[in-house]
Amino acid sequence: MPEIRTRFAPSPTGLLHIGGVRTALFEILFAHHHGGKAILRIDDTDRTRLVPGAIQSLIEDLSWVGLHFDEGPSDEEIARADEGYQGGFGIGGAAAPYVQSQRLGRYKETAEELIRLGVAYRCDCTSERLEKEREEQTARKEMVGYSGYCRERNVAADVPHVVRFKIPADRAVVLADAVKGEVRWDQIILRDPVLLKSDNFPTYHLATVVDDHDMRISHVLRADEWLSTAPLHLLLFEALGWEAPVFAHLPPVLGTDGKKLSKRHGATFLSSFREAGYLPEAILNFMALIGWSPGEGEQQEIFSMEELTRRFTLDRVNNAGGVFSYEKLKWMNGMYIRALAAEDLEGRLRPFLAGAGLAVDGEKLRRIVPHIQQRLELLPDAIPLVQFLFQAKIERDMASMLKKGMDAAKAKEICLRAAEAMGAMETFDTPSIEAALRGMGEQLGLQAGAVFTVVRIAVTGQKVTPPLFESVYALGQKEAVERLRETAELLG
Ligand code: GLU
Repeated sequence: MPEIRTRFAPSPTGLLHIGGVRTALFEILFAHHHGGKAILRIDDTDRTRLVPGAIQSLIEDLSWVGLHFDEGPSDEEIARADEGYQGGFGIGGAAAPYVQSQRLGRYKETAEELIRLGVAYRCDCTSERLEKEREEQTARKEMVGYSGYCRERNVAADVPHVVRFKIPADRAVVLADAVKGEVRWDQIILRDPVLLKSDNFPTYHLATVVDDHDMRISHVLRADEWLSTAPLHLLLFEALGWEAPVFAHLPPVLGTDGKKLSKRHGATFLSSFREAGYLPEAILNFMALIGWSPGEGEQQEIFSMEELTRRFTLDRVNNAGGVFSYEKLKWMNGMYIRALAAEDLEGRLRPFLAGAGLAVDGEKLRRIVPHIQQRLELLPDAIPLVQFLFQAKIERDMASMLKKGMDAAKAKEICLRAAEAMGAMETFDTPSIEAALRGMGEQLGLQAGAVFTVVRIAVTGQKVTPPLFESVYALGQKEAVERLRETAELLG
C-alpha cells in the first residue's frame, strides 16, 4: 500500500480557528494511525487576504496545542513568506518548498500543460468586459459566470491574460467521499474558472491540485465547506492524468444551537482558549470528539493522543455536524487540570499569576498547589485563590469577619493569641497550626469555626480560600504572624 499522507493547508489570513485545530488534528491522527505522514502546507497564494505575522502565529499556535507535523516549511521558507518570523518552528521535508508562493513555477508549468492538452485556454478579457457580461446575464436572469468568450480565440501568450479551465458540458462527476459517501454532481455549475491569474499566481484550485499531487497526498481531509470545489479538483486530476487522492470532507463544527460555530457563540480562535487558561491536551481531546466518536455506545471521553491515534478511523467520523459545547470543554479542562502532576500545574499557572501582577514565590506556590488543584476548571481560577500569598498588602473583608456574634474585641483577642501561638512554634507545619487553632477555640470557649473565620480573614483577607491550615502554612510563619498582628491593630 502506498504511504498514507495527509496535509493541513491553512491560508495565513489571520488567527488559527478552533475548527482548523480539529482539521489539523484529524490529519495527524489519521496519518499516524496508518503509520503515514502529516504535512503542513501554507496556502498563501491569495495575496489580497494575507495578514503579516499570520504564519508565525499559526505555527506557534499549532505547536502550543501539540499538533506536530512530519513535513512542512523550513525556517528559511517561513522567513521568506513572513517578514515577522522569529524562527524556531521550521520542519522541512523532501517535497519542499511547502509554501505555495514559493512554488509558482509549478503552477505556471501545469497551466501550460493544461493548455497543451486542450482543457484550458488563455483569456484576455478586460474587467470591463467581464462586468458587462455579468450585467447582461443578470438582466437575462441567467447564472452569472464567464461566458467562454475566449475559448476558441487562441489568445497569444505574450499579452496579459489569465488561464481558464474549460468546464466540460454535461459532465457528471461522482466523488466517493470517505465521510459523506457518494456525492454526485450531474452538472458542474462553475463557468470556466480561472486557474492562473495574470500575475502568474494560481487560484486555490490549481495550486491545491498541483501540490496535492506533487506532495503525494493520499487523503485530503478538509472542512466540508470545500466540498463544492471537489468536482473541479477531480476534473483537474483527471485532465492531468494524475490519480486523485481520497477526499474526506469533515463535518462542520456547530454551536449548541445547531448553527455553524462562530464568534456569536463565544471564543473561536485557539489563542483565545489559550489565554482563557485551557490546557492544550484538553482542547485536543475535546476537539477529537467533535465529529468523531470512538464507537457505538462508548462512554469513555478522556483520551490521550496515543489512544486517539490508535483508535482514529474515518469510518467513525460522522457526516452530521459535531456540537461544540463550551460547558463541556470547561468540564474536560477541569478533568485535565486535576490529572496534572503538581509540579506541572505550577509551571502552567505561573504565566497567569504573573499576568495578574503577582510576584510568585516558588516555595509558596509549591505548598498551595495541591490544595487548589481540585477547584480549578480554568488556570486563571487559581488567581483569586492564591493571590493572598503573593501580595505585600492584602485587603481584608472585615464585614465578613465581624458577623454571627463575633465582635472586634473577641476577634482581636483571637488574632493576638494566634499570633503568639504561631510565633512560638518550633515546627511550623499544618498539623501544628491546626492543633494550635483548635486548642485556642477551646480555651476561649468558642466554636472552632468562629476562630477559623477570624484567622482566615486576618491571614488571607478573604472568606473563601484554599483550606485554612494549608493556607497559613503556605504563607509561612513570619508573614502569618505579621498579618495576625496587623489585623489585631486594625481591630483597635
Ligand atoms: N487553504 C485552504 C484553507 O484555507 C485549504 C482548503 C483545503 O484543505 O483544500 O482552508
